[in-house]
Amino acid sequence: MESMKQPQVKNFINGEFSRNGQNSMDVLSPLTGEIISNLPMSGMKELSEAVQAAKTAFTLWSSKTLKERIQVFFKYRSLLEENIDELSKLVQLENGKTYGESRAEVEKSIELCEFAVSMPQIITNEIQEVSRGVECRIERKPIGVVACITPFNFPNMVPHWTVPNAIVLGNTVIVKPSELVPLSVMRMAELLKEAGLPDGVFNVVNGGKEIVEAICDHEGIEAVSFVGSTHVAKIVYKRASSNLKRCVALGGAKNHLLVLPDAHVEMTANNVVASMSGCAGQRCMAAAVMVGVDKIQHIIDRMIIEARTIVPGENLGSVISKEAKERIEGYITEAEQQGAKILVDGRGATVPGKEGGFYVGPTIIDYVTTDMKVAKEEIFGPVISIIRAKDLDEAIQIENSSNYGNAAAVFTQNGGLAKRVMEKASAGMIGVNIGVPVPREPFSFGGWNESKFGVGDITGKSSIEFWTQNKKTTTKWNPEDKTNWMS
Ligand code: NAD
Repeated sequence: MESMKQPQVKNFINGEFSRNGQNSMDVLSPLTGEIISNLPMSGMKELSEAVQAAKTAFTLWSSKTLKERIQVFFKYRSLLEENIDELSKLVQLENGKTYGESRAEVEKSIELCEFAVSMPQIITNEIQEVSRGVECRIERKPIGVVACITPFNFPNMVPHWTVPNAIVLGNTVIVKPSELVPLSVMRMAELLKEAGLPDGVFNVVNGGKEIVEAICDHEGIEAVSFVGSTHVAKIVYKRASSNLKRCVALGGAKNHLLVLPDAHVEMTANNVVASMSGCAGQRCMAAAVMVGVDKIQHIIDRMIIEARTIVPGENLGSVISKEAKERIEGYITEAEQQGAKILVDGRGATVPGKEGGFYVGPTIIDYVTTDMKVAKEEIFGPVISIIRAKDLDEAIQIENSSNYGNAAAVFTQNGGLAKRVMEKASAGMIGVNIGVPVPREPFSFGGWNESKFGVGDITGKSSIEFWTQNKKTTTKWNPEDKTNWMS
């Protein structure tokens, strides 16, 4: 990774890249701390231009058939495949995760496009003769101009959670990427144009808080999807819905893995450590708390061995920023001061030749109690807090007491106990002997409690409801004047 400098980030409105004289912000690569680009901090003016372009494009785009609209995404999917190496390197550069993780992310984007192009197979609408000569039909229609606000941790994949589905279903879209990772979405705009998407169907407006607030307020936008922290998800959900928009807002997480003494030792230790340290712990599906039930010391011992094989700068990427590194290390220090035991300590990690980068090594904290911050708050780093529970009921109760509810998992070889966790865990996505239980298409992604606000999930079949509205039509073609529609 020699030359890290990237082109200036631009907005993409009506098929054109543009940049006015707005304030700008630097984009850093967390791998080295080096400035690699800068982006415009847009406001209501740029947003209004994008909404106008999307509104104009909607008339023609929404009048096409579903089968016509998906054609662009067949082509676009091939472009993702052809450019996968370059796209993966871009994710790595702006986000800091490893090349392998970046590539897996783009592969997931490809899978998301495959779901979108299968939409004509999924949506066949409904029709029934409800009385003699009288038919009712339900058709799914697009809703209009929609906006997608995305976080830093999956610069390529999270925009693909929403954009392909929203567009093939006939909507026109405005994306507001995280200001920390705006480069992948700019590339997405180029490739969608190359795939033949008409101007104005996909638009990008860059910036931070100001543009998010403008999206929530703009009367030309019908629906808003948000993925990010719970704090901002609440702000966006309240503001967008009070302005009468449809909104689904995914928030943060604190995922609990319940480990039982009979769990397979190597597999469990490997899965738990991979879940907490993959993408440097910056996944909303990452393991954050391990609840060890009864005698699980042998599994913890194995986890220590696994964690020591994970080396920052080699098989562990950076965290997103200096502030993130300081926040994560602060949590570890506070837990230590409160009496928790640091079994593997990732504080102060540096990578030779990349001393300006933001690295935290894998960290295992044992003897965490439920009142500590590391037990309750989202750390969003490669850190796992171990809480010890005397039995499964206590472990479930600890999981249930979290404000969040994205994922939960159980590790055991006992089907009956696994079933109890499947039933009782208060989370939207459950794993049995799997550390990162992300549902694959066509199953949908979404948490419970403060990990998601709004109805339905953000991907898969559930997202179809969100991106469409039903048109219900009743027709009568029996001309006899004596028959009414009840006949
Ligand atoms: P964030 O909430 O800081 O930012 C998300 C988006 O909101 C960005 O586009 C940002 O520009 C904007 N934003 C930030 N502060 C704002 C404010 N005060 N007002 C309006 N807009 C604001 O999240 P992040 O740090 O980019 O991403 C990490 C978070 O996202 C973690 O909490 C993680 O768990 C969560 N996440 C959740 C899921 C999920 O599926 N539930 C998926 C990925 C990430």
